[in-house]
Amino acid sequence: MTKLLYLGGFGRSGTTLVERVIGQLPEVCALGEVTHLWFRGLLWDESCGCGQPFSRCDFWQQVGEVAFGGWKKVDADGVHRLGLEVDRSRYLPQLATLPSTSGLRRRAREYADWYARIYSAAAIVSGAELVVDSSKNASLAYVLRDHEGIDLRVLHVVRDARGVAHSWSKDVPRPEARSEQRSMDKYTALQSAVLWTVHNLAFEVLRRRGVATRQVRYEQLTAGPRRTLAGILSWLDLPAAELPFAADGSVMLEASHTVAGNPMRFQTGRLELRTDDAWRSRLSGSHRRQVTAVTWPLLLRYGYPAGARP
Ligand SMILES: [Zn+2]
Repeated sequence: MTKLLYLGGFGRSGTTLVERVIGQLPEVCALGEVTHLWFRGLLWDESCGCGQPFSRCDFWQQVGEVAFGGWKKVDADGVHRLGLEVDRSRYLPQLATLPSTSGLRRRAREYADWYARIYSAAAIVSGAELVVDSSKNASLAYVLRDHEGIDLRVLHVVRDARGVAHSWSKDVPRPEARSEQRSMDKYTALQSAVLWTVHNLAFEVLRRRGVATRQVRYEQLTAGPRRTLAGILSWLDLPAAELPFAADGSVMLEASHTVAGNPMRFQTGRLELRTDDAWRSRLSGSHRRQVTAVTWPLLLRYGYPAGARP
């Protein structure tokens, strides 16, 4: 059984930051957003976090060899199509409530099998005790909970919905893109607020379904990274002795073999951890009110002020 840390939450909540920091520990192998491996890795041959195209990254080639006897034996398009039948937010109600004998849950089990083989191979190739998948989507976490080869722990990363909405309004280029998708998606403030609520609620329900889950707030991580990370590592039964912080509190990032994700996955060298709260001055009053009106019950639950002013 492979010990998997799944980083969940709505996009732009800080999952990549968490993955990069945890991924510096020798016991940990960070894989990026594995949900995108089928298209962005296998079909589009985009860059791994190490800078090499997927097909020329030694790590991923070894993983493909151990998992499947080589990636050539994998019908990436077929796996992607199977994913579209189960791994979508619209199926969350069924994934949460249908019995494991239902057609949807059986297809989910089949889809999870592809991931279980990748995680197991990644653990073998890297020698790591824990592999990290930062795919974020709640639907994939529901799919993976069914698999007996995966010891699933979910770290649910939460960030103030107004910071998230501001982040989704910005243009973020994808330097690795070899396809038409050259920048990351954008959402309006209202779309972002609705999706933030849906994704966060889905992780609340998943925890009530018995999946080992721990919640962490982005702002808590950036304000007190050592303490927050030590708590996470202790929850994961990993030694906190090797926290990757320099004396000044910054983190030295080495390249990781992340298959896809936020462009921050390419960053190496010294990273100073600080809270990005540009939304306080840049998110317009009307957008702020819209987002707060939609998200206030969960904002309060997570300890964010629902009447925040800059
Ligand atoms: Zn690589």
